[in-house]
Amino acid sequence: MSTFSAPKGTYDLIPPDSADYLAVREAIAAPLKRAGYGYIETPGFEQAALFARGVGESTDIVTKEMYTLTTKGGDELALRPEGTASVLRAALQANLHRGALPVKLWYSGSYYRYERPQAGRYRHFSQVGAEALGSEDPALDAELIILAVDAYRSLGLQNFRLLLNSLGDTECRPVYRAALQDFLRGLDLDEDTRQRIDINPLRVLDDKRDSVQQQLIGAPMMRDHLCEACKIYHEQVRELLIAAGVAFEDDPKLVRGLDYYTRTTFEFVHDGLGSQSAVGGGGRYDGLSEMIGGPALPSVGWALGVDRTVLALRAEGVTLELPSRTDVFAVPIGEEARRALFGVITELRRGGVAADFAYGGKGMKNAMKSANRSGARYALVLGERDLAEGVLQIKDLDSGEQTAVALDTAVAEVLAKLG
Ligand code: ATP
Ligand code: MG
Repeated sequence: MSTFSAPKGTYDLIPPDSADYLAVREAIAAPLKRAGYGYIETPGFEQAALFARGVGESTDIVTKEMYTLTTKGGDELALRPEGTASVLRAALQANLHRGALPVKLWYSGSYYRYERPQAGRYRHFSQVGAEALGSEDPALDAELIILAVDAYRSLGLQNFRLLLNSLGDTECRPVYRAALQDFLRGLDLDEDTRQRIDINPLRVLDDKRDSVQQQLIGAPMMRDHLCEACKIYHEQVRELLIAAGVAFEDDPKLVRGLDYYTRTTFEFVHDGLGSQSAVGGGGRYDGLSEMIGGPALPSVGWALGVDRTVLALRAEGVTLELPSRTDVFAVPIGEEARRALFGVITELRRGGVAADFAYGGKGMKNAMKSANRSGARYALVLGERDLAEGVLQIKDLDSGEQTAVALDTAVAEVLAKLG
């Protein structure tokens, strides 16, 4: 222990567990890369006002969960709590929206929210996300959902469910919103929730309390208020998902509170995670660009939580098939052998072999222990007598079988054995 430990609500990724996180990020990114999404990276902090506008002044993220700071120069910044606003800001700044549309981007990184820490809920967590900017096409909504499902499947995850809804558009949503407000005003609700009716009425549908849910029976639902265009759009998304063999549940109560979220909205939940069940979510945000001062730019995206995906894999007992960290482990005995073998290892690494070395002048017994622990297929053993004879011992660590090869052809021999 040192005097310091990781701040509350955070944790370190440490080998061997850290390999799972890396594998999850890569597995989520792989289908995106194959579908033409380009990698984007933005700063870990932005002007706080970007999130106030781009996530929403009335959201928990902005009112309670944001890490804000004033710089010495007087700038009001915030650690990014999510990725979409930053990605859109960067795309507009670089004028990507003036080129061919849609602009398809993916990202991976750390996000910060001042939350009450608990299993699956941290103050620093990581997401991989994807955004398709500047196009209104149900195939794009379907594409993103399918890519997320394919990513989860490629990891071997099974017990996740996709919840799907449509939030309508600027034509039909205001009418629905007013109808919902009328209904909610007739209910027996606490002061906080009453305030929500004015600012964020859709969010009331999302209330986790039984006392509220009981009263919501019979509430008007967006799906019964969709205009013809939204109905057709949503039906097309559903048909494309069905054709792709993607199972989903229509969830009329799945909402996002803000007006710039439109039409398709979805969430991936995993039943093995207790109350932090959302492993990812997303949807269409046709009005967001205008909210942050950009042109009209209908867009759709999602963000998947890496931490919760790792927890979900563990809950299902999935062990990822990670490539062995080490193919070959070198065991030198004596100073001269050490120098010679270090050269062999360097050459093997340059030839693409994962190779490690017994450092620290360990004795033969300890060095062989390290070799076994490394998971390597072969130990390369070089003693003083071997050196004198110009040979190197290649020991198969599974069978224990040992063969001597000429030292100056050792690299080629090992490369051939590893095929
Ligand atoms: P929740 O309802 O659990 O608070 P959210 O709606 O705030 O989730 P999003 O903003 O949609 O989550 O973020 C997408 C994903 O990022 C979530 O589905 C989840 O997997 C992950 N995530 C969000 N907040 C956290 C957190 N504090 N710790 C770990 N993962 C998180
Ligand atoms: Mg949250």
